[in-house]
Amino acid sequence: MAGLYIHIPFCKQACYYCDFHFSTNTRYTEKMIKAISRELELQASYLDDDRINTIYIGGGTPSILGIAEFEKLFDAVYSHYSTVSNPEITIEANPDDLSYQKLKLFKEFGTNRLSIGIQSFQDRFLEFLNRAHRSQDAIDSFNQARELGFENISIDLIFSIPKQSMTHVEFDISKALELNPEHISIYSLTIENKTVFGNWQQKGKFKTVPEEESARQYDFIISTLEKEKYEQYEISNFCRDNRYSKHNTSYWKNIGYLGVGPGAHSFNGKSRQFNVANNHVYMKSIKEGKVPFEMEVLDQRSLANEYLLTSLRTKWGCDLRKLTKLYSYPIRTHRKRIEQLVAERFIHITENIIYLTRKGKFLADEIIAELLWI
Ligand code: SF4
Repeated sequence: MAGLYIHIPFCKQACYYCDFHFSTNTRYTEKMIKAISRELELQASYLDDDRINTIYIGGGTPSILGIAEFEKLFDAVYSHYSTVSNPEITIEANPDDLSYQKLKLFKEFGTNRLSIGIQSFQDRFLEFLNRAHRSQDAIDSFNQARELGFENISIDLIFSIPKQSMTHVEFDISKALELNPEHISIYSLTIENKTVFGNWQQKGKFKTVPEEESARQYDFIISTLEKEKYEQYEISNFCRDNRYSKHNTSYWKNIGYLGVGPGAHSFNGKSRQFNVANNHVYMKSIKEGKVPFEMEVLDQRSLANEYLLTSLRTKWGCDLRKLTKLYSYPIRTHRKRIEQLVAERFIHITENIIYLTRKGKFLADEIIAELLWI
């Protein structure tokens, strides 16, 4: 079984922290959907005969598309791919463009999971992040989706925003809990170079939250969500009643997937493909019948490192036998450091599987970097 990711490269406006591939020029969405539909046809054999287990429409902002564009997209998917009987189908949506008609259409096409980009329930932080919606839009869109029968809703939140105190974080978490979502993804604000915040930072105009404060907020979030019966199954992801994101979980478990659309990636166990992250180059090439991608053939070292990077962040941990037997990871050169990390209580090992401890989760990136096969 495999996953299908469809990248919709448009947004209403650019959030100041975002370095995803998107354009705010939405005059050619129809042409783009035509190109993506054609790519779906061209790539139909990429996954061999694997049936599709999960479909994830992300971006950008998929919910920006009109009804006719969604219809075309779903038609292309169902014409060229066969799915398992009840695939997980997720659409990423922003609160400001989730209309009743669109939600109804999503349901008709089998969408059973929504991922709503809420980020904060406080307008001052939404404005600071340059989000296009306001807090009340988020609440209204969530309630509307519930009324229409969506039983699996994920919300995205951000913490560690400048000037965000613990009281503000507490407020956002309590508002999230009032909505009672099945899944919460919560990320610490990171500053990427080619973003507005990155630019402010280079000019010395951006004051990041001190690490200890950020760690305190993260600790509070984990404790509060755990008390409310949310399971932390990945560093930034929490769910109730085993409502894991099946699509993202398959990325973390190295299961193959096809990504279509500009900037999308694909993985088939041996190589990765990266579609060009330029809307016009992409559309021109697709028109000529050619998918514009670069390919990287993955050697044992890349596969081992990818497995380490993804698995260690999850509750399922990193299986040392898989790492050494399948990917020839040189365990001998890392054994001493692994033992130290266990002694320092950053990781623990049970039946040959390494897991991050609560303390280790705060320093996940640093710990993983130390274990990489360089
Ligand atoms: S809506 Fe999402 S993809 Fe678009 S700019 Fe904001 S964070 Fe990035």
